[in-house]
Amino acid sequence: MSKFKRGLFWFRHDLRLSDNPSLTLCCEQCDELIFVYILDPSLLKQTEFGTTRLGNARWRFIQESLDNLHVQLASHQQRLIIKVGDAEKIILKLINEYHIDHIGITPHPGFYETQTIETIKAQTDKSINWQCNQSFTLFNQNELPFEIKDLPDSFTQFRKKIEQTISVKTIIEKVVLAPSNMPSANGDIDSDQIPDIPPFTHSFKEMVHRGGEQAAQQQLEYYTYKSQHLSRYKETRNGLDGWDFSTKLSAYLSQGCLSARQVMKMVVDYENQFGPNESTYWLYFELLWRDFYQWHQQKYQANIYLKRGIQNSDPELKFDQHLFNKWTSGETDNNFVNAFMRQLKQTGWMSNRGRQIVASYFVNQLQLDWRYGAAWFEQLLIDYDSSNNWGNWQYLAGVGADPRGRRAFNIEKQRQIYDPDNHFINHYLD
Ligand code: FAD
Repeated sequence: MSKFKRGLFWFRHDLRLSDNPSLTLCCEQCDELIFVYILDPSLLKQTEFGTTRLGNARWRFIQESLDNLHVQLASHQQRLIIKVGDAEKIILKLINEYHIDHIGITPHPGFYETQTIETIKAQTDKSINWQCNQSFTLFNQNELPFEIKDLPDSFTQFRKKIEQTISVKTIIEKVVLAPSNMPSANGDIDSDQIPDIPPFTHSFKEMVHRGGEQAAQQQLEYYTYKSQHLSRYKETRNGLDGWDFSTKLSAYLSQGCLSARQVMKMVVDYENQFGPNESTYWLYFELLWRDFYQWHQQKYQANIYLKRGIQNSDPELKFDQHLFNKWTSGETDNNFVNAFMRQLKQTGWMSNRGRQIVASYFVNQLQLDWRYGAAWFEQLLIDYDSSNNWGNWQYLAGVGADPRGRRAFNIEKQRQIYDPDNHFINHYLD
């Protein structure tokens, strides 16, 4: 008789059942399976930048995503166990107490996420079967046409190499369906009490990112088939405010309610029906930026968080609490910047154009240490993603993946192009 197999699937940045190959394999291989999510309370402590790593907008989004997982798992007579504490300790305790012999995770390029897994692996029995199948990025590491150490530092070189060697078909054929059957649950383990985090309320009703896999699928369907906004994406994507000018998929991708591969599969299906154009290609182009920053973090690890960046050059930036407070509260001498910063506070989101403008103002006009700006974004953004956030900030501060050095935007010129009637400014400054 074969041995009874007890598995543990640890949800991290993959809060979905579909296109989650590690989860599917755990479901196939185990007789009993525990689904766990861990909230690390240290994310709520003050950082060296005076911020917290998890703000209430993102926490609300995560909670909604977990609720949705609960509902979906319940339809399989399964459940999600939420634990609060140090992830390493919790996972090791569960492995020992429940005699776990199968563990499933989705690898995440984050430096800390990777370290945690390495530490756990080093402390567990070698006989444990680990399912670690990539699905956070478009590509698997073994598909890349270079070793991680040889990853180009320029996005353009990265993109060209990828486009010359890997087809979009390779991306979408990896997408897997949600498991149709699940092993039985373990009824003995209870969830922990979640710490009190103040609720997040929007004051701008249109901008609502609702968490969860089902909401993610709805948004993807809405942006493509329902509205056909995708066919105009390249022309509209530099908008500043409102729901329809860009996909609004970032928060879903960051928490893994949706995979980038699923987005690409939808793009290809859509192109087959409505025809490809520059806009449909451009969404692939932006997802390549996302992949670029993910692999970039894998290559440079903790260096993406350092003031001197991956270039190890001195950006000659200082810190001034007074100027920082004015920037965060939207009270600088530039009303365009102020409107963006208030939008971020009110909605937990800011357009890509806005993020570039306020970051450029932060490092070039205020001459502040870019890491404080990145940390503020980490706390407030609903779609915070370590690779995208710190990678983009480094890039703009001139210590990252841009060989041309620091990028200074002419902010008045940007306003004339993107907000000529001051409509956006008036909306947030009234
Ligand atoms: P769309 O325009 O619809 O783009 C589709 C997807 O492509 C996005 O969801 C995102 O996954 C990816 N993407 C688009 N632009 C970029 C980019 N410049 N870099 C990497 N990926 C990109 N994005 C995050 O997801 N999390 C962050 O924490 C984050 N921080 C940023 C900080 C700064 C200083 C800057 C300049 C950009 C940052 N971005 C970040 C990238 C970008 O601004 C957001 O992904 C985008 O605005 C999200 O809205 P959307 O989903 O509607 O984007």
